[in-house]
Amino acid sequence: MDDTFNFDTLAVRSGTLRSEFNEHSEALYLTSSFCFGSAAEAAERFKNSETAYTYARFSNPTVTMFQERLATLEGGEACMATASGMAAIMSVVMAALQAGDHIVSSQSIFGSTLAMFSQIFSRFGIATTFVDPTDLDAWKNAVRPETKMFFLETPSNPLTEVADIEAVSKIAKAAGALFVVDNCFCSPALQQPLKFGADVVMHSATKFLDGQGRVLGGALVGSKAFIMEKVFPFVRTAGPTLSAFNAWVLLKGMETLSLRVEKQSDNALHIARWLESHPGIKRVFYPGLESHPQHALAMRQQKLGGAIVSFEVKGETPEQQRANAWRVIDGTKICSITGNLGDTRTTITHPATTTHGRITPEARAAGITEGLIRLAVGLENADDVRNDLARGLDATS
Ligand SMILES: *Cc1c(COP(=O)(O)O)cnc(C)c1O
Repeated sequence: MDDTFNFDTLAVRSGTLRSEFNEHSEALYLTSSFCFGSAAEAAERFKNSETAYTYARFSNPTVTMFQERLATLEGGEACMATASGMAAIMSVVMAALQAGDHIVSSQSIFGSTLAMFSQIFSRFGIATTFVDPTDLDAWKNAVRPETKMFFLETPSNPLTEVADIEAVSKIAKAAGALFVVDNCFCSPALQQPLKFGADVVMHSATKFLDGQGRVLGGALVGSKAFIMEKVFPFVRTAGPTLSAFNAWVLLKGMETLSLRVEKQSDNALHIARWLESHPGIKRVFYPGLESHPQHALAMRQQKLGGAIVSFEVKGETPEQQRANAWRVIDGTKICSITGNLGDTRTTITHPATTTHGRITPEARAAGITEGLIRLAVGLENADDVRNDLARGLDATS
């Protein structure tokens, strides 16, 4: 579709393939294979499996629609969908690297991504050096002759550190490394990393692209050459493919993406400002606040602050901090106590004892303390969420 249209139009209208029936909504093609008119046609289609439908591990029209829509929204040439965000990370590494290669990655990344790099790829001869994402010298100094990939997540989870995508991309380019950015937290509605020099955008579609907590999905967006010549051969062979049903759910989710993410960001800012003024709070982490260390960069790089707000409750000792954090979490009636994020429902977690429970003491020292709470703000009324948090917080102070 003509990508001179604005984002909201593209989110609703791009990547629509109509069948002979001219259905209005996207069709769900629940089929594992596709028929051929003759042996010769089968041979021809298998030879051109990049563009012809043969078998659903390779491609499926519903999945194609999802891929085209996401590629358009990220401003990329091509997209390969995967079964989950982690399947996307596995696929990009398997497609681009080999034994002996080296990755430089932000240390502030999703827990399973960290485990993938440090525990799984390390067994296959791919080493990773982890760096502070906001320290440009650290990225530069970590480069080795065998460095082939840079990996960044911004804003980070759960401390919302914002890294300068453009500055890191220059260091990656000088090193000859493929620069992969996990754009899960912002989604293309708020941030388009390819515009700032990223080579590949990676997604956990499970989060804001679905946005309603229903299905798992993932994706990689980049140049046509990289996606079709490197990623596609891996995914079609190894099989971490997105299902047609999940692609169909995600297509409907993407139609409301900017509406949701913008409203969730407004709600998050409202709650973050209130938290900052509460006597029971030690510190609030939110890129949309003037007090955030990379606020100016965030406002240059992102349209809004995003839906994730983290905050540290006070306490004399780590034990007391934990007790206070748990009191706030257990005092809520609206917020869901669950690890997922990007949902229309606000979710609340205690990273130090759940998602980040296995993290190194150094990472903890960097801010994932016993008093830290992560809130992924949803679409409920922001005052109701604020009052929900106040119940436990007022009791701690
Ligand atoms: C959830 C998440 C992932 C992993 O995605 P799955 O779909 O759960 O496999 C990767 N990166 C970030 C930032 C995430 O939040």
